[in-house]
Amino acid sequence: MRIRHDSKTSPIGVHLDRARQAWRGFAAQPGNTHIALAAALLLGLVLLVAVAGGSEVDSVSATRDQVTDTDRAVVVADEDTLPVTPAEPEASTGAIRSEAMQADTSATLMNSNRLAIILDDIGYSAEAGERAVKLPGAVTYAVLPFTPHGQALARMAHDAGKEVMLHAPMSNLAGMALGEGGLTLALPEEEFVRTLRAAIADIPHVVGVNNHTGSELTAAEQPMQWVMRELKAQGLFFVDSMTTGKSVAEKIAIDNQVPALKRHVFLDNEATPEAIDREFQRAVAIAQQLGFAVAIGHPYPETLDYLEQAITQLPAHSITLVPASALLRQP
Ligand SMILES: [Zn+2]
Repeated sequence: MRIRHDSKTSPIGVHLDRARQAWRGFAAQPGNTHIALAAALLLGLVLLVAVAGGSEVDSVSATRDQVTDTDRAVVVADEDTLPVTPAEPEASTGAIRSEAMQADTSATLMNSNRLAIILDDIGYSAEAGERAVKLPGAVTYAVLPFTPHGQALARMAHDAGKEVMLHAPMSNLAGMALGEGGLTLALPEEEFVRTLRAAIADIPHVVGVNNHTGSELTAAEQPMQWVMRELKAQGLFFVDSMTTGKSVAEKIAIDNQVPALKRHVFLDNEATPEAIDREFQRAVAIAQQLGFAVAIGHPYPETLDYLEQAITQLPAHSITLVPASALLRQP
């Protein structure tokens, strides 16, 4: 911050030299010493204020740069906790149904790293489903439509204060069966949308949708447009399970102003305690790095055994378990 003047060449330097000489003469005279001292003190004070002002400006811009460069994901995630306000008045019918989104604005949540755990494939087994619903904390449940226990488990989860999603079966490249309510490339638009609507209507308290399998369908632009248009109309969010790297689902969701999110980690592709632990730790590391992470698991006994313990230890890692809706990327 020092400004250097070359007294030999710059006109300001010449003036400064003259002023300096005059000042020395003045201060050297007996009787003027106290005036010189007071003037020096005053000058010092002015300089101090100037320097302090400058450093404040620097530190503010440094903080801003830091946030932009390293914590972008955190900032985005924090904005995502704000309640969704419709961008246009006519969009109010499509306002997000989630109650969790309205509530998650507390300072604690804003400042901690957040993890959403979605348990997929809920609905076939009452026993596994009930045990899953009893997990501690804000676990999210993705329920398969038209399954024997889907509706009862969705109600049970909602009554326990948990978030419920539709786990919409979408066609895959592995030839896996989809069950009732499956969405495929073969369906014409009208039938496709009717099937999706029926699946949504089948699950009580649903606030969002994620895909069951879908390595074929989520990579196809047209059917994803149909899905997202319907979710927008019904005020539902979308979580891309990312069953293929070629998925266009999240992008098309955002294009259609559907709040969306992507899975980071599958907890139990390999359902052994070691593999589940490794993937869970990976989810924790991502949450610590990005400020948030999305993990998807299944109601397997190994997964439930593991989560019953691991969820209670999240606060020790400075991680808050949140419903999926708390992490949504807004369009
Ligand atoms: Zn599934």
